[in-house]
Amino acid sequence: RRLFLKGLLAPVVTLAGDDAHHLLYAMRAKAGDEVVLVDDAGQVARMELTGFTADTVTMRLIERLAADTESPLSLVLAQCLPKGDKLEFIVQKAVELGAVAVQPLASRNSVVRYDAKKAAAKEKRWQKIADEAAKQCGRTRLPAVRPIEPLTDWLAARAARADAALLFCYENEERQPMQATLRALPASVREITLLVGPEGGFTLAEAEAITRAGGVSVTLGPRILRAETAAVAAMSIVQYERGD
Ligand code: SAM
Repeated sequence: RRLFLKGLLAPVVTLAGDDAHHLLYAMRAKAGDEVVLVDDAGQVARMELTGFTADTVTMRLIERLAADTESPLSLVLAQCLPKGDKLEFIVQKAVELGAVAVQPLASRNSVVRYDAKKAAAKEKRWQKIADEAAKQCGRTRLPAVRPIEPLTDWLAARAARADAALLFCYENEERQPMQATLRALPASVREITLLVGPEGGFTLAEAEAITRAGGVSVTLGPRILRAETAAVAAMSIVQYERGD
């Protein structure tokens, strides 16, 4: 089992909170069991469980593992809110495909609208899904699900930076394939944000605003993909071309 440690690895580590609770009561862990621990700096180690209280688990370091599974690319998925629970699927796949963060955005054609209380509950659930996916797929860094923002505010706050690229998937774009756009980016660009629309797509005004904010529109091919398919396809292409 892979666990994430808040803090840095040490010869002896004591875990509390949800992970300790899970080990104690769901896994019924016992002395001598082993876990893989990943710390805040991405260091990975095999640990042996040695001591238990009602709410803590103590473990000792057996060996450090050289297992950095992170992509050299800092990939962020900015996803306009899709219907229903689709963002849960998208968050899970973004983590598996190496995104460092998912930014949910409320755009003109996003059907769902959350009040502050519902948004906070959703964000907490998405982060939990991200944490679980990170453990399952062997990430050495916990990806963040950021708070929902209106697309317009997010664009306004996004400073144009030479070392970062904003690529937006736009089904009306025919000339600029994602692959060619990525290959044309300077090697110094190590941070890529992918922006994907909701089921109803981007409005023309939004597409123009994204372009003004430095976004480059790309096509994923001649067929119109569902929002979740577009997100998965786009992230896969980016990691294949520029990441790992
Ligand atoms: N505007 C369309 C409509 O309502 O018929 C389709 C929107 S599509 C279902 C959702 C999102 O997926 C789009 O906003 C876009 O970001 C992305 N997408 C889907 N197919 C695409 C393609 N062939 N090329 C680029 N992006 C695509």
